[in-house]
Amino acid sequence: MAVRFKLQLVVMADDNEVCIDDVVVLDKQHEQLEHIGLSLDEAKMLLLELQRQVVTRQIAAFLASRAACTNCGWRLGTKDHKTIVFRTLFGNLELASPRLRRCACQHDGPLSTSPLVELLPEHTAPELVYLESKWSSLVSYGLTVKALRDFLPIDARLSATSVRRNTLRVAQRCERDLYTQDEVVTRPSRSGQDLPGVVGIDGGYLRHWEHKHTHFVTIVGKSVPTGGEAKCFGFVQSQDSWPRRRLMATLRAQGLRSGPKLAFLSDGEDSIRSLQWHLSPRAQHLLDWFHLAMRLQRLRQFLVGLTHLDAAVGTQMQTALERTKWSLWHGKPKQAFDRFREVEWRMWQFGSHYAKFSALTHAVNEFQRYIDQNAHLIPDYGPRWRAGQVISTAFIESLVNSLLAKRFAKKQSMQWTPQGAHLLLQVRTRTLNGDLVSTFRKSYPDFSLVEERVHQHLIAA
Ligand SMILES: [Zn+2]
Repeated sequence: MAVRFKLQLVVMADDNEVCIDDVVVLDKQHEQLEHIGLSLDEAKMLLLELQRQVVTRQIAAFLASRAACTNCGWRLGTKDHKTIVFRTLFGNLELASPRLRRCACQHDGPLSTSPLVELLPEHTAPELVYLESKWSSLVSYGLTVKALRDFLPIDARLSATSVRRNTLRVAQRCERDLYTQDEVVTRPSRSGQDLPGVVGIDGGYLRHWEHKHTHFVTIVGKSVPTGGEAKCFGFVQSQDSWPRRRLMATLRAQGLRSGPKLAFLSDGEDSIRSLQWHLSPRAQHLLDWFHLAMRLQRLRQFLVGLTHLDAAVGTQMQTALERTKWSLWHGKPKQAFDRFREVEWRMWQFGSHYAKFSALTHAVNEFQRYIDQNAHLIPDYGPRWRAGQVISTAFIESLVNSLLAKRFAKKQSMQWTPQGAHLLLQVRTRTLNGDLVSTFRKSYPDFSLVEERVHQHLIAA
């Protein structure tokens, strides 16, 4: 025994005339658990059929509104029809697109018009492109296709290639927007907001698709207004001629700007250091205390080894290192450098009988170089720390992992073109920042989806 359902669509016309159309007939068993409720296949079929009916009528209403001459009201003749395939979340629809002749009362302009081509300049519904780009910013293009097909009556021909193409197109549009927004860079924030905040950047490597066995640098960063929500950004340096504009756009969206209230932190690595100045010349630039402390800790371990060989000298060296640390903490890199000299000249007496001597000299030289090159980035950490301000890049520590590794280097075999990675990263940061819907709304003002931010920690796990 089964219950038979017949679903009908009632369409209300302007003149209150009612038109009823059959949508689908379902025979539902009810003897077993798996019989109860709509099955996924039934639901997909229902959506597909409903979509067909809704779109067909919308298109008919639209074409009816364009069927007559706007000047004399005469009905326009049809020259021929073309078929447009409109791709939606609920299936692909073939639509007949008429080419209408110019009215006899008109003497210039094109000889024919295609109203449907004007309505659908793109043949994919924005919501489909949105889900394609959102999900492929989180998981692979192939998996995105599989997931969408699992839940929706998406056309079976949807391929990873077309998902990739649509996603990169979204990114290209974002890039164009970024480069045409002149006010981003030239006009300072006038909203009265100039919040204190902190920005950190870090770099990661991706495998090059064309030049196998080589890698290219990808920069990721995060900006956090005090008491506000963080946003991340990223770019492939070789693909980005205006990275500063990108950062400014992110800062502006958070009520931040590049000025003395913004602290810019990095770990002091060479490539990042110069970039950080370029990105935000007016900010305060600080060296991450955590990396500094780690380097001191590594040196201390060597000195503990030396203390076993010569307690007196080893202890003197440890004291010198502690005093170096004190100077660094209080923002006195020159004094720290002088104090550290004692460690350097005393170490030579261990040259012949300390097994790790060459590693020690290397670490000492490296430390001196690090302090020398980053001296201008070493602030008085004490007051910042007591005021609860950020002194370390710990807040961006997992960023390379969550922003890059989880999508771009999940498998050893994953390879990218710098351009493909750069563009996908633009969609990925927007998804994580909760800005993808507003990106779509710029092109489609009535785009109705509500955005749910995919938090970094969800994908960092
Ligand atoms: Zn006319």
